[in-house]
Amino acid sequence: MRVTERIHLVGSGSYGFGLTHHSDCHIWLIDGGSEAALIDAGAGVDTPAVLARIDASGVARDRIRRLFVTHAHADHAGGATGLRTALGLDVHASPEVGAILRAGDERLASVDIGKAQGTYRPEYVYGALDTVEAVADRQRIRVGDVEIEVVATPGHATGHTAYLVQDRARSDLFTGDTLLFGGLIILQNTWDCDLTTHLATMRRLGEHPHDGLFPGHLAFSVSDGSRHVRTALAAMDRGGIPPTL
Ligand SMILES: [Zn+2]
Repeated sequence: MRVTERIHLVGSGSYGFGLTHHSDCHIWLIDGGSEAALIDAGAGVDTPAVLARIDASGVARDRIRRLFVTHAHADHAGGATGLRTALGLDVHASPEVGAILRAGDERLASVDIGKAQGTYRPEYVYGALDTVEAVADRQRIRVGDVEIEVVATPGHATGHTAYLVQDRARSDLFTGDTLLFGGLIILQNTWDCDLTTHLATMRRLGEHPHDGLFPGHLAFSVSDGSRHVRTALAAMDRGGIPPTL
């Protein structure tokens, strides 16, 4: 599903548009021309469905070289092993997230809580990756005609990272679970969710004006995406916290 000249949605579950398995987050495909990249991987329960969406996008598989992961939760990162096997991707994530992905640690990724809730079936396996390329805050990585800037956004989960995708025409912020449409945030009873850290992250997002807002779930905005950050900051300026999902 193409949403801008360069951005395709190739995966999305029940907290989205139902394109692929119900447990998938939004999986974004960025077409940089000579090269393309994915942002987030979905849960990995039905990788063939994601590959079919990629093929339908018209972006040739051999142009997709990289996967950028926002955080280690299974709905975002569990699909990394399957997509890497299918597409031969370099996987990029923060050092904290990379450590969890390499260990395939279900407790650190809070998959144990997801299984207890019934979000994931008991036999679900959160696979381990052999290598993950560490990204650092403010690092810029070129993908064809676009530049992807790393924006550290801890709070929802340890090592959470947003990605600011820019070309000559526009800038688009991919926020994972840090900020959703309408200024929503996601606070969870997980070991690494931290409100104070999250609120500091929201202030930082206000320093990155952008055209499009492309979160990991629910709706997105192709224009004036910064208004969702402003909504969250307005709640904080009133002494409150942004509304939570
Ligand atoms: Zn999450």
